This record gives sequence, structure tokens and C-alpha cells, in this order.
Amino acid sequence: MKTLPKALPDLPDASLRLTINKDALVSNWRTLDRLSGDASAGAVVKADCYGLGVKQCLPALQKAGARDLFVAHMREAEEVMEHASPSDISVFHGANTSAEIAFAKAAGLRPVINSLNQAASWIAAGGGPCDLMIDTGMNRLGIAVKDVGEEIIQKLNVQTLMSHLASADEDVDQNAQQLADFKSAKAVLPHNRASLCNSAGISLGADYHFGLTRPGLSLYGGVARPEQGGLIKQVAYPEVAILQRRKLSAGDTVGYNATFTAPNVMEVATVSIGYADGFLISRGPGGALQHNNRNLPILGRVSMDLIVVDCSNAPELVEGDFLTIPFVLPQIAAASGLSQYELLTTTGNRFKMI
Ligand SMILES: *Cc1c(COP(=O)(O)O)cnc(C)c1O
Repeated sequence: MKTLPKALPDLPDASLRLTINKDALVSNWRTLDRLSGDASAGAVVKADCYGLGVKQCLPALQKAGARDLFVAHMREAEEVMEHASPSDISVFHGANTSAEIAFAKAAGLRPVINSLNQAASWIAAGGGPCDLMIDTGMNRLGIAVKDVGEEIIQKLNVQTLMSHLASADEDVDQNAQQLADFKSAKAVLPHNRASLCNSAGISLGADYHFGLTRPGLSLYGGVARPEQGGLIKQVAYPEVAILQRRKLSAGDTVGYNATFTAPNVMEVATVSIGYADGFLISRGPGGALQHNNRNLPILGRVSMDLIVVDCSNAPELVEGDFLTIPFVLPQIAAASGLSQYELLTTTGNRFKMI
């Protein structure tokens, strides 16, 4: 038998913290709802609200007015149900196993039916309200437009009929082609509401809006299309503590593979973040942390838990001081070659979420 641990003092403070600006979340949802015209905006809260935390983000999104919620995995619905009615939660991956079907039915969640097989098992289990994904060009999940007339599909009690745009962040013919295919499926299948747009799609115009939109990225500060640039606010503000101040001599090297050599005596700081925290190696070269609007360039390679920054600009900083990690997503994406989605969703679990 496990012996009970002695009473421990409170856990020490984290050396990484991520502040969520709730007002920015509220503002972003309202902006996207307004841009959705006559459609209402839902909120995609999969992947723990794109890494920013269901606990932190969902209440703010609901306060803003979001009602229709989307997760990817059935298991993700568990935490979302602590905040929302199951009948407002849609599960993108659908119900694939008998356990998932049983869970969805018992909880009252709506699986997104993605195949004829999924439709057959849902109906065999008694059916009930569900959503349906039409594949109009992603070729990931969803039934083909030509299969919409199948008897098993016509038997479904479809609440939200949806499809997903492949290239809404670009001005390409594929958008209009997907819109036309979606409309032809929509014409022959009874449903309650239709939904086509992700964050980027919302800016393609009223033809694309239907009854409900499904923004994810833009809620959390991503800029999906240039038109949204001035409208979407930064939501996540990561900060990291200095663990050590050090002095380098000319010729000293920093980190794995010695990719940086000090040209002269330098004041540096070792900081408690690395690729295990989503600060990937590609964010090192040319990157910087900040303190009171001064840049502290990153020196050498990013390691798993640590980076080293140049403190020449900030001689007063001491161990324990927190530095700002720049997180204006389109800028950091352009500089690092990572997508805005990757920057958000790779956030590790060592941050204290505030
Ligand atoms: C993730 C996802 C969205 C949200 O996309 P964003 O580009 O983050 O706005 C919408 N619909 C489906 C089907 C998705 O998988």
C-alpha cells in the first residue's frame, strides 16, 4: 500500500506563466460573430482551446455570447461539459467505437457523422441528433456529395450540416468550387443549420456564412486572413523567469553544438523555457525575448528546457525576473517558419495558466 506523503508546503511558483487576456477573447469572438453577418459564430475549443486552456478561455467565450461549441475527440467533451450543455457540443471526429457511441448517446453529445459506416452504427444504436460532414475537397473526413442521397444518410437527424474549406486563407477557385458542392448537398438533405466557414472562411463573404460559423484560430489571436489583421487582438501573453545571470568572455560558446561564440565580454541570462514548452528550435535564430520593450536576442540553440539571451540591453535584470515572450502570432510565424496553429497548440503543460 502506498504510504501517505507527509504534508508538503504549497507547490512553488512556476517559472513559466501564460496570461490569457479574457477581454481580448471576448472582443475576438464578437468581431468574428459580427463578420459572420446573419450567421452566428460558434467556437472551436478543440485541443484545449488551441493550447490556451478550456478552463481559462471557455467562460470568456460564453460570456461574449458563444453557444455552439466544437471539439475534435469525444474525450475532449468531458471538460467542455463542465461549462456547457452537451446538446451544444459537436464532436468533429464523430463516434467511431461502440464506447464512443454509447458515451455520446448517454451524455447527449452530437457526433459529426463522417462516413456511411459511422451513419450506419449511429442509426443501429438508435440514432438521435447528430451533425454531418460533407467532404467537398479535404479528403480527410466526411461523406461524398454523391452519397448524400443514400438511405442511411437520409435517415439521420442532422442538426448541423457542415463542410470544411481547404484553402480559405487563399484566393483560389477551390473556395467557390467547395461552396457550390456544399450547396448541392444541402439542397437534398434535411437539416437544421448549415456551416461551412472556419476563421479564414468568415472573410470570404456572405455567400459562405450560412447559419453558423466555426472559428478557432482567430478567437485565440491568430490572423487567418490579412483582412482580419487590424481586428483580431492578441490573447496569450507568455512570460518566463531568468534562472541565472552569467558573464561570457570573448570566445566562449553557448549551448549544444556551440552555435554562438561571444565576440567580447557579454552579460547573458539563462531562461527557463525550451522546446518541451513549445518554444521550438526554429524560434531561436534571429529571435528575442523582451523586457520593457527592449529586445534580448536569443544566443545559441534552443534546448529542451533552457535558452540563453543577451542581456547587454538590460543590465539591471536579476535572477527570478520575468521576461516577455513575444507572441504576436502572424509575426512570430513569419519569423520562425512555424504556423500560427503550431505556435498556439504546442504550448506545453509547464506554464501556470492565468
Ligand atoms: C479546426 C476546425 C475548425 C476551426 O478552424 P480554424 O482555422 O482554426 O478557424 C473548423 N472546422 C473544422 C472541421 C475543424 O476541424
